[in-house]
Amino acid sequence: MNTTQISEIKALLSTPKNIVIVPHRNPDGDAMGSTLGLYHYLKKLNHNATVIAPNDYPDFLKWLPGDDTVLKYETQLEEGNALLEKADLIFTLDFNAYHRAGHQMAEVLEASNATKIMIDHHQQPDDYAKYMYSDVRMSSTCEMVYNFIEKLGDENKIDETIASCLYVGIMTDTGSFRFSATTTKTHQIIGSLIEKGADNSQIHNNIYDTNSYSRLQLLGRALQNLKVIPELRTAYTTLSQAELDEFNFKKGDTEGFVNYGLSLEGIIFAAIFIESKQDNIIKISLRSKGEFSVNEFSRAHFNGGGHTNAAGGRSEEDMETTINKFISILPQYKQDLS
Ligand code: 5GP
Ligand code: MN
Repeated sequence: MNTTQISEIKALLSTPKNIVIVPHRNPDGDAMGSTLGLYHYLKKLNHNATVIAPNDYPDFLKWLPGDDTVLKYETQLEEGNALLEKADLIFTLDFNAYHRAGHQMAEVLEASNATKIMIDHHQQPDDYAKYMYSDVRMSSTCEMVYNFIEKLGDENKIDETIASCLYVGIMTDTGSFRFSATTTKTHQIIGSLIEKGADNSQIHNNIYDTNSYSRLQLLGRALQNLKVIPELRTAYTTLSQAELDEFNFKKGDTEGFVNYGLSLEGIIFAAIFIESKQDNIIKISLRSKGEFSVNEFSRAHFNGGGHTNAAGGRSEEDMETTINKFISILPQYKQDLS
């Protein structure tokens, strides 16, 4: 985003506008933190802003300031459509292709004449937005929203509320500041957010220390199911719908499970396959260390994408067929994996 574009956006934001802010479907900490952080900033500038999430998100994000104002498109279609219809500006955050908002919302976004602004750090962006702030080197969309506000000369408008929202997404997308996209700038921004009032210890507690007993048991099952292919430095695990049901699965419960495989010594590629009877798919999460691109892997074989070291995908076949496919593909990557 160059200085001309920044001035144009600044001009656009100089008078009150109807604004809709959209995260990706199945929003995570970065998606909700960035959309709500931006929401509070735009409210401060006197805009009529609303966050419309394509669908619901996990309970551990429900304490976020402004949570009660978020519309869920899946269940609030009419209200959502009315707002989208009269929107002057639509921000799409933490995704870069319409379909990531779910097919229903994708159609409406595509048909809308509103000016689109994308802020996102995923690979291979589509070019639907008039203003694109897309940077795959960024730790998180929350870090980018901080930069965006700073570029608009409004860093001093970041208060405790905005800071808390932005802290969440930087923390969750960096695995608490350990993944390789974490830079000195990331830490400087985190420092500044704490200075502005984000309660780092409390936020960590709200996100990570609210486990239910059944979630820990489900994690236990995922760890029992873990399989290792040492010669390809790969670990993968599965959770069937029956296992999810047995442990009273709730949205968000499997968040982070895939990382345990990656924590094994010598392992550089980890996957988790989670059955969803409702969507009739196997949802796949992929993680890697170093050069091996799970974004490319997922795009090539599992209808997904994401980042070099973290991506998602799906399979329309049953668990056994999906796992067999996964195992049979791996040798093609022997060079990268061994
Ligand atoms: P997760 O495994 O946590 O669901 O996703 C890992 C990363 O990949 C996230 O940044 C997420 O936004 C992205 N991602 C997950 N599923 C998909 C997908 O189906 N398509 C694309 N393009 N990205 C995905
Ligand atoms: Mn993100």
